[in-house]
Amino acid sequence: MTSRFGNLVRMHLQDLEEYEPIEPPEVLARRLNIPVEDIVKLDGNENPYGPEPNLYNRLSSYTNYHIYPDPHQRIMRQALSDYTLVNPSNIVVGSGCDELIDLLLRLTLEPGDEVIDCIPTFGMYAFCTRVCGGSVVRVPRTDDFQVDLNAVIESIGNRTKVVFLTSPNNPTGNLVTEEILSGILDTGVLVVVDETYYEFSGHTFASLVSAHENLIVLRSMSKWAGLASLRIGYGIMSNRVASYLMAIKPPYNVNGAAQVALVSALENRAILLNRVEALVKERQWLSLQLAKFKAVQPLPSSGNFILCKFIGKSAHQVNQELIQRGIFTRHFNNQVLQDYLRITVPTRVQSDVLLNALGDIIAN
Ligand SMILES: *Cc1c(COP(=O)(O)O)cnc(C)c1O
Repeated sequence: MTSRFGNLVRMHLQDLEEYEPIEPPEVLARRLNIPVEDIVKLDGNENPYGPEPNLYNRLSSYTNYHIYPDPHQRIMRQALSDYTLVNPSNIVVGSGCDELIDLLLRLTLEPGDEVIDCIPTFGMYAFCTRVCGGSVVRVPRTDDFQVDLNAVIESIGNRTKVVFLTSPNNPTGNLVTEEILSGILDTGVLVVVDETYYEFSGHTFASLVSAHENLIVLRSMSKWAGLASLRIGYGIMSNRVASYLMAIKPPYNVNGAAQVALVSALENRAILLNRVEALVKERQWLSLQLAKFKAVQPLPSSGNFILCKFIGKSAHQVNQELIQRGIFTRHFNNQVLQDYLRITVPTRVQSDVLLNALGDIIAN
C-alpha cells in the first residue's frame, strides 16, 4: 500500500526533511506527568502576556462567522495601513508570516531554482523551498552571526530567485545592516527581509520598499501581539508583487476570527507596545543575570529571545535537565548551534524560575 502510494508522490517530496516543530504545553505536561500550569515554556518565542484583553469581547460579539471572509482583505489592509503608514495596496495578509514565505516561493520557484538561506536562521525558509521543489543554498554567517555579504553575492547564480534575510535574526538576535541589504538588493534577486520581531527591535527597512520592487518586508502578529495561535502575518511590498500574491493566495486565507483579532490588536496597540517595552527591559535584565554564570554567554539580542552559548557544559545536557524541571528552551539539532540554547524572554516570575534552575544545574 505505502509503496504504491509513494509512487504517486512527487519526486522531490518523497523524502522531505520534516520541519522540527515545538510541542504544545499539554503534550509537554503529559510527558512529564506534571500540571500544565507548571510548564515554563520558553521555546517558541511566544508572548507570555497573551493577547490584549479586548480581544475576547470582540470575538464573542462578531456576527459573521458563517460568512466567508473578504478575499480582498479590505478591513485588515486598511488597519495595517494605518499602523505601518504604507498604502493598503502595498500590503498582503497571510495565515501567519509562514504562509507568506510559502506564497512568495510558490510565486517565484521553478523546480530546481535556488533560494539562499543565511544559516543559522529560521527553518521555514529552507522547509518551504524544499516543498516548492526549489533548492536551498546554505551560506554560513560570519563568526559573529552576521550575514556574509560577499559569500551571498558569490552564491547568486542564474537560478537564484530569492535571498532570505531576517532582522532581527532568529535565533541569533542580531539585525541586518543597511549596507548588507543594499548590496544584495543591487543584484536584482528577490530579497525577503523577515521582520517578525520588528516591535522588539524598533528597526525596519519598510521605507526602502517604495524604491525597490525586489524588496519584501514580512511581519507577524504572533510574537509582539500574542496571537500565535490565530495565525496572522503580513507583507509590505510593491504594488506589483502584492497583486501577484493576492492573485495566487487561497481566497479566504485569513479567517474571520483572525481578522477581528488583528483589528482589535492594532486598535489597542498601546497595551501591546507597553508589554513589548516590558519584555525588552526583561531581556536586558535577564541577559545580565545569565552573564553572571561563568558557563553562560548570552548574545546581544534585538528580539524577544536570547541565544546563550554554554561553555564547559553541554547545552544538550543543560536542556535535558531543564526539561526535567518543566522548563522548555530551544536546543537546535545542528552543528553550528550545538553549544547554544535559545531562551524566550518571559515574565520576571519565570525568569526567576529559570535562573534558579540554571544555578542548580550548572553548579552540579
Ligand atoms: C516565529 C517566526 C515566524 C512565524 O511567524 P508566524 O506569523 O507565526 O507564521 C516567521 N519568521 C521568524 C523569523 C520567526 O521567528
